[in-house]
Amino acid sequence: MKLTRVGIVGAGQLGRMLALAGYPLGVRCLFLDRGADAPGAQVAPSLIGDLEDAALLAELAARSDVVTFDWENISGGALKPLENITQVRPPRAALEVLQDRLAEKALFTRLRIPVAAHRAIDSREELIQATRKIGLPGVLKTRRLGYDGKGQYVLRAASDIDAAWQAIGGAALIYEGFQEFSRELSLVGARSASGRTVFYPLSCNTHGGGILRYGIAPFANARLERLARQYLKRVMHALDYIGVLTIEFFVVQGRLIANEMAPRVHNSGHWTIEGCVTSQFENHLRAVCDMPLGSTRALGHTAMVNFLGVMPDRERLLAIDGLAYHDYGKAARPGRKLGHCTILKRLPKERDRALSNALKLIAWA
Ligand code: AMP
Repeated sequence: MKLTRVGIVGAGQLGRMLALAGYPLGVRCLFLDRGADAPGAQVAPSLIGDLEDAALLAELAARSDVVTFDWENISGGALKPLENITQVRPPRAALEVLQDRLAEKALFTRLRIPVAAHRAIDSREELIQATRKIGLPGVLKTRRLGYDGKGQYVLRAASDIDAAWQAIGGAALIYEGFQEFSRELSLVGARSASGRTVFYPLSCNTHGGGILRYGIAPFANARLERLARQYLKRVMHALDYIGVLTIEFFVVQGRLIANEMAPRVHNSGHWTIEGCVTSQFENHLRAVCDMPLGSTRALGHTAMVNFLGVMPDRERLLAIDGLAYHDYGKAARPGRKLGHCTILKRLPKERDRALSNALKLIAWA
């Protein structure tokens, strides 16, 4: 049977770009989201309601050949009944592991993928002990539902313990040693149901306040790319994964330290829309719909810049040669991802020049 109807839980910008990638393939997406005006709901039909509403999830599944995710934090309990109705891809077990930073780190460790020293924290006393054992500085994070630096507190000295505990204490937490990284890299790949894998070139990412600001790709380092691919492949295989999966790494003294994973298309892979033969969005749909995976070959040298909190002057940005503009159709709020642009050039130095011109026109709020 050809799989062409894709149900997507959550209609954020990732879902929107999935739906847009689906049209040329003959794939039709249907969303479930709280907002009738969510970014995805502006470009494809949507069921409106809570993302864990059992009746709506069942309707989404019944009307889809396969269900996939824009929002990966849906509980395993809400997902399980869908497996009796349709295919759920990536598999529920993968989502469940990646929803919990502690389980995620345990998986990395089992697969011999280096991670930062860390400890589970359930009390203030355990936090004090962890800062002694692992040392300071360190980062206290919620184990669940943290993203874009939310649910995180950087501790520089023992005197920060009280403030950190007040800020996020009470939830299940993890404390990890602060990584003095030279770079942050991410690798996006896709795996089909038959076990075929493809990997994009590495992206080198710059964050501010825990949120991705811009990235450049391909980041040319054959040794690190080989290593990152081995790691991602191990995880995909262990989880019997189907779809796009992303790992974010710190580079510390030439080593890759895995930070976290996303069981979905990823912000650091947006450059693939213009920058590669097949985008991450198209390859995710190809993977979950049992189509052959597409080439991940880069077409040149790209930079991707996020629009955060405020949209830039579109006309001035569009005047930059080789720049593609993406507006997610969202209301402006501080720190919110509202859109992005991608610059595609033939040479790294041309890309760097255009990036610095674009950055002069983009403010992050
Ligand atoms: P995360 O939500 O884990 O991806 O963290 C968001 C960003 O915070 C990362 O991309 C890093 O820039 C920073 N960060 C997170 N954990 C650490 C760490 N253990 N050491 C240093 N920086 C970190």
